[in-house]
Amino acid sequence: MAENRNAFLLVQGGVHEQLPAAGRPLHLEAVTHRLTCRRYRLPFLRVVRTAHGPWREREGLLVRTEDEAGLAGYGEVAPIPSFGTETLAEAERALDGLGGRVDAAAVAGMGERLGCVRFALAAALEADSAGPPAAERLPVAALLPAGRAAFAAADEARDRGHVAFKWKVGVLAAADELAMLDDLLARLPAGAQLRLDANGAWTTRQAAKWLERCVERPIEFVEQPCLAEAAPGTAGRRRSEDILLGLAHDYPTTLALDESVTGLASLRAWLERGWPGVVVVKPALAGPPAAILALLSAHRADAVFSSAFETAVGRRAALRMAFFFKGRQPPRALGFGVIPLFKDARFEGLPAAPFVSGEDINRMNLEAAWNALS
Ligand code: MG
Repeated sequence: MAENRNAFLLVQGGVHEQLPAAGRPLHLEAVTHRLTCRRYRLPFLRVVRTAHGPWREREGLLVRTEDEAGLAGYGEVAPIPSFGTETLAEAERALDGLGGRVDAAAVAGMGERLGCVRFALAAALEADSAGPPAAERLPVAALLPAGRAAFAAADEARDRGHVAFKWKVGVLAAADELAMLDDLLARLPAGAQLRLDANGAWTTRQAAKWLERCVERPIEFVEQPCLAEAAPGTAGRRRSEDILLGLAHDYPTTLALDESVTGLASLRAWLERGWPGVVVVKPALAGPPAAILALLSAHRADAVFSSAFETAVGRRAALRMAFFFKGRQPPRALGFGVIPLFKDARFEGLPAAPFVSGEDINRMNLEAAWNALS
């Protein structure tokens, strides 16, 4: 495992992290790849409900790199501008600006604002690095819908073999949802813990009420209890951060940040402020996998790796990161319970399952997804 991870970081590290032989110019280490891009627009199997309204189809880009020996690599640009990422138009302009060629230095030189583009290109350029050990596997958290619909969904997920569960809260009146909590917990398998995801919907007072209720219940963590978006201005942002840090310190239940940490910059800022809880990392939105892993490791972060509604191409790179990350043991369940996501199964890459193995990831055929767009 340690060996695999080193291979990953070295390939990913690019020219600026490699040590050249004495007197040898650094740029000789760079390998330039041919770059091609294809745009996609893929309807979801089911409409995704978001705070910004219904989301029916995913738009993004697949990139393909090829080195002089003909080795191809694939990456995916899957922005979510309402999460603070670049837009698809910005991503296309940045890719056009590369003129059909790319190397690790070009990726390293791009601004952090282009997190989705940098994720795609870095993933494509690491095509020849080793995959995770085939036998290793990680649980996938089953997504339970808001309200009473969660009961039947929990029963089904338990019967399919899920051991981790996430319930969407902050949708109905807090008192109604609180009244359902114990009934839902009673349906989970013995020893299972429940994640609650409020998507920032609670007021500070509602969050406090929920966190009081969570004490001595099997709640793995409460995700983004409130303040998904910081109040405007530096002072407002500080106040928002203070409220989340205050809740984290005042209650024994672990808190997780999701919407607060979409980019590398915000993730770094929270870790540097000493965030004591979990960070939900959506690799497809954040930047080069090696840079994210280095940041998480430097801060000994407690991380959950999560989907950004990307296709098989971005999904594979994001899942590889989850397997290479050496954090808390046992690792937390993956936030990839969105599968199956697309009407066109050629873009899925994985079946819906309670666990993902290294073998599942290594077997994913990215060329098939690329060819499906021709
Ligand atoms: Mg979330």
